[in-house]
Amino acid sequence: MNTALIREQFPILHQEINGHPLVYLDNAATSQKPLAVIEAIKHYYEFDNSNVHRGVHTLGSRATDAYEGAREKVARFLNAKRREIIFTRGTTTALNLVASSYGRANCKEGDEIVITQMEHHSNLIPWQQVAKATGATLKYIPLQEDGSVDLADVEKTVTENTKIVAIAHVSNVLGVVNPVKEIAAIAHRKGAVIVVDGAQSTPHMKVDVQDIDADFYAFSGHKMCAPTGIGALYGKKALLENMEPIEFGGEMIDDVGLYESTWKELPWKFEGGTPIIAGAVGLGAAIDFLESIGLDAIAQHESRLSNYALKRLREVDGLKIYGPAERHVGLVTFNLDDVHPHDVATVLDSKGVAIRAGHHCCQPLMRWLKASATARASFYLYNTEEDIDALVSALIQTKEYFGDAT
Ligand code: PLP
Repeated sequence: MNTALIREQFPILHQEINGHPLVYLDNAATSQKPLAVIEAIKHYYEFDNSNVHRGVHTLGSRATDAYEGAREKVARFLNAKRREIIFTRGTTTALNLVASSYGRANCKEGDEIVITQMEHHSNLIPWQQVAKATGATLKYIPLQEDGSVDLADVEKTVTENTKIVAIAHVSNVLGVVNPVKEIAAIAHRKGAVIVVDGAQSTPHMKVDVQDIDADFYAFSGHKMCAPTGIGALYGKKALLENMEPIEFGGEMIDDVGLYESTWKELPWKFEGGTPIIAGAVGLGAAIDFLESIGLDAIAQHESRLSNYALKRLREVDGLKIYGPAERHVGLVTFNLDDVHPHDVATVLDSKGVAIRAGHHCCQPLMRWLKASATARASFYLYNTEEDIDALVSALIQTKEYFGDAT
């Protein structure tokens, strides 16, 4: 993988921030966009823009082809079938769709929904809401000391009463890759379905929903080079077919009467209203771009980078790193002495280094880590060892600055 050539594809990276070359290490929040994606969206608006599925004119069919073509690419990307891919605004909307439709219809008092304490709020609050609405019990798989999940604990927590197991494929704070295939097998053996939050996996590794045997799999385009506002939910056809839509209106109907209506077939019954057409086009272009480099090559690059980052960060006196010692996904979460992570991020920004600080939408996990907030550096295919060196040197300067100030 030629990182220098890849970087040329990302115009935003070539600028100075506060007098320093930009070092963008906030990729777990959102990734930057390559020219191929920017151009695809521009081309769509310059030549093909129209509404989909209804226009008989040329632009209408071009827009429909572009939108449905993007669905085909997402299906191939996840090794799914076209009808099993529902376009959503992102992971949050996809998980809320499963919770509001499948969750509410399939849970009742005495049933269990099993999640973990490492979940992003998007894969936690929707299940709290389902539990409240249905009387089901929300249960947590305990975490190991380093934040990972032990399969023996999954066996114990998931019971014959469990209806849904919902878990992140990759934690956005700890960087752990959860054994979702093995967890899916346990869930299925006990009669539950598994919902996988793929927000932090699809950008960084090859995902095969059939190999995992996931019942539902959610992801966001904007973390994998696509624009904001587009993502998708994969669901097994047999499950989706028996689910009710949660948004009603145009585009999703078959026949509308005064008192009763019927829905279109999959996947359109879940896509009420004018969809995010340009976003889907951008997502299709992002998938082409990532596949042209190769998901395996990207995963290897990030694994090398994060291990280099872990090694270099350990050289910074007073730096506490959270999560397991080895990573395959490129992110490192840390705190520097007693300096508030917002202050760390502010000083780093003055040196051109962009990282994230806060609770990362994981307040229950922050409590488990006994930290009110943390700093997080996250990497992507365009990051280099020089970026990590810049991070480390900015952290050393931050430490000197606050050391002197106290
Ligand atoms: N799940 C995880 C693990 C995430 O990291 C994120 C975003 O940071 C989400 C869910 C929510 O994604 P979105 O805000 O794109 O819906």
